Amino acid sequence: MYDMAIIGAGPAGVSAAINAKLLNKSYIWLASRPTSKKVERAELIKNYPGLPDITGEQLAFVFRHHAESMGVEPSVGVVTGIYDLDGKFALLADGRDYEAKTVILCLGVEAAKPLEGEEQFLGRGISYCATCDGMLYKGKKIAVVCHDKRYEHEIEYLCSLAAECYVFPMYQNYDIKAQNAKIILKNPVKYEGDMRVRRVVYKGGFTEADGVFILKSAISPATLVHGLNVEGGHIVVDRNCATNIAGIFAAGDCTGRPYQYVKAAGEGNVAAHSAAEYIANLK
Ligand SMILES: Cc1cc2nc3c(=O)[nH]c(=O)nc-3n(C[C@H](O)[C@H](O)[C@H](O)COP(=O)(O)OP(=O)(O)OC[C@H]3O[C@@H](n4cnc5c(N)ncnc54)[C@H](O)[C@@H]3O)c2cc1C
Repeated sequence: MYDMAIIGAGPAGVSAAINAKLLNKSYIWLASRPTSKKVERAELIKNYPGLPDITGEQLAFVFRHHAESMGVEPSVGVVTGIYDLDGKFALLADGRDYEAKTVILCLGVEAAKPLEGEEQFLGRGISYCATCDGMLYKGKKIAVVCHDKRYEHEIEYLCSLAAECYVFPMYQNYDIKAQNAKIILKNPVKYEGDMRVRRVVYKGGFTEADGVFILKSAISPATLVHGLNVEGGHIVVDRNCATNIAGIFAAGDCTGRPYQYVKAAGEGNVAAHSAAEYIANLK
């Protein structure tokens, strides 16, 4: 079991991981991408102390270089569930399980809110994880709502299992090779069902499905951790970056405004120290 599980590779996650290493704690660092898009995409950054007029690409490079120089590297994977097992936490990422004494959420903020029905039917026909749940739908009819071209191999895997596969690519230039993939160029607006999800509804129609896979790189914090206190889309934390769940800490944009690199990096530092203190006090 790891001392800490750190999720996200933006400034908050990088800072938490570097500090976990400096604090001599064992950790697993999981991130949907090796660096944050929100860092890579900034044209020119004027407010990062010590690095005036640095571009986002350069900042992403120095973050990565700093971490790698200390032997700190993220494992690429989307965390789709975090479970409180009374004294430890189990994390699920791309079909693998991890256990840790503490969790540091450095998730950033999601641009899009979950659609109506998404949280309601999660685990009841809606899944975020192709490798975890794909086999449940062997020979069945599924819908896949995919938000990123990087997950096209997962669409192909799901289509290889399903008898019928309806795919909603939510990005340009899709290239889905599965022969049975039926592409629907519509934006889903909600998920409907009874005890389980039954259909994906879009403007002007719907598609029926036994299961719905939503492939995206970020999942809302309240969906990820049952019982987490979230207000206005932000995780509520105290000055120690502690959440309402003992052992879970949060840092960066996911805890609220201002959305800034320095604030994120600073909170990553605080969260790692608070997690280390929490571990020291465990019986
Ligand atoms: C174009 C642009 C320009 C900006 N310019 C500036 C600027 O000049 N100065 C400034 O201070 N700020 C700027 N910002 C804001 C800054 O980018 C953010 O405040 C900062 O990146 C927040 O860091 P973070 O670590 O909290 O989250 P992020 O950088 O958003 O990183 C979070 C990471 O966690 C990953 N993640 C989320 N959920 C999961 C999951 N379930 N499993 C695995 N990984 C997950 C995400 O994919 C992401 O990579 C800018 C933002 C943009 C978009």
